[in-house]
Amino acid sequence: MSKFLGEFMVTLLVFAMLLPAVASADELVIYSARKEHLIQPLIDIYSAETGTSISFVTDKEGPLLQRLKAEGKNTHADLLITVDAGNLWHAASEGILQPISSAILEKNIPAHLRDPEGYWFGLSERARTIVYSTERVKPAELSSYEALGEKQWQKRLLLRTSKKVYNQSLIAMLIAEHGQKETEQIVRAWVGNLAASPFSSDTKLMEAILAGQGDVGIVNTYYFGRLQKKIPELKLALFWPNQKTGGVHVNVSGAGVTRYAKNPVGAIKFLEWLSSEKAQNLFADANMEYPVNPQVKAHPFVTAWGTFSPSTQNLADAGRLQSDAIMLMDRAGYR
Ligand code: FE
Repeated sequence: MSKFLGEFMVTLLVFAMLLPAVASADELVIYSARKEHLIQPLIDIYSAETGTSISFVTDKEGPLLQRLKAEGKNTHADLLITVDAGNLWHAASEGILQPISSAILEKNIPAHLRDPEGYWFGLSERARTIVYSTERVKPAELSSYEALGEKQWQKRLLLRTSKKVYNQSLIAMLIAEHGQKETEQIVRAWVGNLAASPFSSDTKLMEAILAGQGDVGIVNTYYFGRLQKKIPELKLALFWPNQKTGGVHVNVSGAGVTRYAKNPVGAIKFLEWLSSEKAQNLFADANMEYPVNPQVKAHPFVTAWGTFSPSTQNLADAGRLQSDAIMLMDRAGYR
């Protein structure tokens, strides 16, 4: 064999070795309502590890859904990442997600934090819990979401607007637990105790407690964390309600594979990686949330808020009962 031919064969061999790797290098397109700075670090690591080239679009929930619907079969999106089971359920009901099954996802994510039919999977958990003024409330005075409707909280309760999906999901989960009639009584009692009109954000609600406008409210844990980072001597604390009854209301940020994904296999692999022990802290800690994977501990900043038992009712109920919740809040005068 001539030297030239030998070199040619070696070159050919090198190419043959490279080829499968090049062919299997995935391309993945993600539409995300979770903010860019929260997912970019994960994408960078995953791309470096697997050679997957990932592009993503971030926008608000509504525009992303509209876009997916308008693009239909022509969409480039493989994966939709968003917050709140209510939104994930809504995306599935609009026909833009596809059901998938994965033993890894089913092992890593508790059943109540993913869709029973596999249309979406929770990737980080947040609690929607009670926040109170440490100057004017003793934790022993608090017990449950329902009890915020009692006389002692008259003109002391603050709520965020009922237009926010977080509250729609909370009320939907209360309906799942208590039924319509009882839930309406609870919400009416809350409205009767309001110290101010509902706020546009959890942060504004907490700032109003600090300003003395009210004493207790209901917020997502990571907003509390953000305020705590801004104001170290924060005169607010979280309370874990319903510890003897249904547990603390939790929700997720999560994702689903799009119905017309060009690379569903790659999308599932990425989801599996996001649910793994390796990626869970990166995903959850970036937003001061709880990992969904029970093998993974939350960041110490988050665990410092204390431990609690969460509701283990399937979050699909937050979607299934969303329109009931919206109508109920309207009837009860919760604006
Ligand atoms: Fe939020």
